[in-house]
Amino acid sequence: MKRTIKDIDVENKKVLLRLDFNVPMNTKTGNITDLTRIMESLATINYLCEHKAKVIICSHLGRPNGTRDEKYSLAPVASALKKLVKNRVSFASDTIGEDAKSKINAMESGDILVLENLRFDRREEENDEEFSKELASLADIYVNDAFGTCHRKHASTYGVASLLPNAIGFLISKELKVMSKILSNPDRPLVAVLGGAKIKDKIPVIENLLDKADTILIGGGMAYTFIKALGGSVGKSLVDEEKIDMAREFIKKAKTSKAELVLPLDNICNVDFDSKLKPKRFPSMEIDENYMGLDIGPKTVKLFKSYIKKAGTVVWNGPMGVFENPMYARGTNKIAKYVAKTKGFSFVGGGDSASAVVKSGYGKRIDHLSTGGGASLMFLEGKTLPGVDVISDLEEEK
Ligand code: AMP
Repeated sequence: MKRTIKDIDVENKKVLLRLDFNVPMNTKTGNITDLTRIMESLATINYLCEHKAKVIICSHLGRPNGTRDEKYSLAPVASALKKLVKNRVSFASDTIGEDAKSKINAMESGDILVLENLRFDRREEENDEEFSKELASLADIYVNDAFGTCHRKHASTYGVASLLPNAIGFLISKELKVMSKILSNPDRPLVAVLGGAKIKDKIPVIENLLDKADTILIGGGMAYTFIKALGGSVGKSLVDEEKIDMAREFIKKAKTSKAELVLPLDNICNVDFDSKLKPKRFPSMEIDENYMGLDIGPKTVKLFKSYIKKAGTVVWNGPMGVFENPMYARGTNKIAKYVAKTKGFSFVGGGDSASAVVKSGYGKRIDHLSTGGGASLMFLEGKTLPGVDVISDLEEEK
């Protein structure tokens, strides 16, 4: 068990709080288009303020690649936060510079200071020792509540953590609790629904879940590498040639492992991504050589539904088709609906599947919508997250 903010005394202490304020912005107007990430951080911020800490918030925003770029400034986030909390919020125009230091010196207990974007300094992503030390010198305690970046070994998620007494916030604490239960003691049957295009990202997840899940439903672009491995004709569908042997091995392994591996039966196909032609349906093993699979077909939707409906736990990561195009979004939307409606516990990894579920209007019915796509995938691979690993265990000396 990791130490949480409830296990430490923060009164009158300067707390460096790493949050995920990587909010979506309208690049033309500079307005924040979705406040979810800020809202989700409020419980930890408010707890620290109520317990009289001086709360110094740091985060990254976008990919400024180590240089100052006003388009990625956290100033609008600080302004938005001001409207959501009752405590005093100020903003420092740098991260470890003079403005940050003088504003920290002027802080009183319960005050909040938002530092400028960590990634304006290239040393952040390099987990640079000096940069980590500079960050540590700003505070007495380090708290990480940025689940979305826990899989990264950066100065603000890793380097600084070992230099200060540390703890995790409420958001990470909840994510860990939910994911640990899924992997160690899930309500069964445990059904994993995996999709998306990058098979190499999902292979370690399938490998880990083969002995843990009861069923693994595979859809989306990555299904075609498996279908080809089975000897099917997949036409022009997305295939990762380098992973065909691995897919074949998994299919073989699944025969003796706990989990049943289930592939699509039929597919909605077209001659290319942007074709204006009417899409055609093909059985998975017989896709025409001029066509590519762009969504799961109705028979597959029905088959996947039957597993999801009976599940004790459903874990979903990755869309079932090229859902960005409404012509191929049906499979993903249907799965979003069934995952939301299942009587079992529903878990949706961040990224595309989370946005699909929110777009479908069923977001509120998901038991746990993870705030970290990459981090939740890494967890499902059975790996420890660097940003969590570095936090002290509860038993360790405080
Ligand atoms: P990933 O990042 O691996 O989860 O992949 C997400 C992407 O997979 C989305 O942008 C989808 O458009 C894409 N995708 C899903 N199904 C297919 C497919 N059948 N062919 C090509 N791309 C797909």
